Amino acid sequence: TLEVVLKRTIEEIPTAADFEVVERAAPTSAPAGQLLVRVLYLSLDPYIGSRLRGRHMGEPRPGPGESLPGAAVAEVIASGHPDFVVGDHVVGEAGWTQVGLMNAAEVRKVDPSLGVSNHLGVLGMPGLTAWAGVTQLAKVGEGDVFTVDAAAGSVGGTAGQIAKILGAKAVGIAGGADKVAQVVQQYGFDAAVDYRSEGWVDQLKALTDGGPTVHFENVGLPILQPVFGLLKLYGRVVLCGLSAHYQVDGPPPQFGLGPIVGKRAQMLGLIVYDFYPRWAEWVKTAEPWIKDGRLVQVEDLGDGIETAPAQFERLMKGANSGKTLVKVG
Ligand code: NDP
Repeated sequence: TLEVVLKRTIEEIPTAADFEVVERAAPTSAPAGQLLVRVLYLSLDPYIGSRLRGRHMGEPRPGPGESLPGAAVAEVIASGHPDFVVGDHVVGEAGWTQVGLMNAAEVRKVDPSLGVSNHLGVLGMPGLTAWAGVTQLAKVGEGDVFTVDAAAGSVGGTAGQIAKILGAKAVGIAGGADKVAQVVQQYGFDAAVDYRSEGWVDQLKALTDGGPTVHFENVGLPILQPVFGLLKLYGRVVLCGLSAHYQVDGPPPQFGLGPIVGKRAQMLGLIVYDFYPRWAEWVKTAEPWIKDGRLVQVEDLGDGIETAPAQFERLMKGANSGKTLVKVG
């Protein structure tokens, strides 16, 4: 089997050159409690960049040659657990590999008829994150004006689609004209602005009828600070991700707390792990939306496990548009 591993211990933001593809003898059977799987899609997510540097929620960092973190959707080819049979589709961790072992206690069985790769995006961890922030923390509904940044990405794109389905107006914030077009044309947001263009804050003000009632933050202060200026009184802000700050060492950037007081705003911190016990509820909620086409996934797809390093570098640079995936098998 081909497997992607690190060449060296990672201190800085990883690039494709930090990885290598190695050939290893694949396991041929599943020991008790394990599943032998053929990986179909590998998910590449921002937290992996932090994990590789030992900066993700106290989780251990992999060393050179060791198995890499990342969810995969896979097909069981031999089962060492009574709850799983050959042919089952599961989501779990096997490393960045074509064939590998998953710990049966840590996998979720999934329904391939909902779209195999959807289980890593809209129905996967990013989708669950979006659902949790929009419905459980900010409780978005009719009359809300919802803004989200990294809106072309998996969390942002899903969050805006859910907000719209629930009756809000959704306005995206994204980097570049292509991402803006994707947000409106493919995800169906009401509008989107390019935060790299002049005057984007004024545009956002006009498109949100003066400002959002709910803002979902994925990037960090360069966007949060100006959006705070627009936020309506009693607005809610979901703090989900800080992509612009993950790569920066040293103390966090300065942020004036005044606007939070002035706007009587609520800041809502989100950690998706809290919602893992409710994954089935999200999948059940999303199933009709996926079937009638109201909830879609756009993919930034590499073909073949060998493309994983380059795909990962795209994600680390923010050049990805849509859910970053590698089609493995
Ligand atoms: P995305 O597909 O949205 O990719 C990240 C995007 O962030 C980029 O495409 C880019 O979009 C934007 N970005 C802005 N600045 C930078 C930068 N300096 N470096 C890299 N990217 C940058 O990722 P996801 O949808 O998977 O995740 C979105 C956010 O949600 C992330 O911050 C992630 O860490 C967070 N998250 C939080 C969870 C939680 O439990 N709180 C769970 C899951 C994800 P653009 O060009 O439009 O700016």
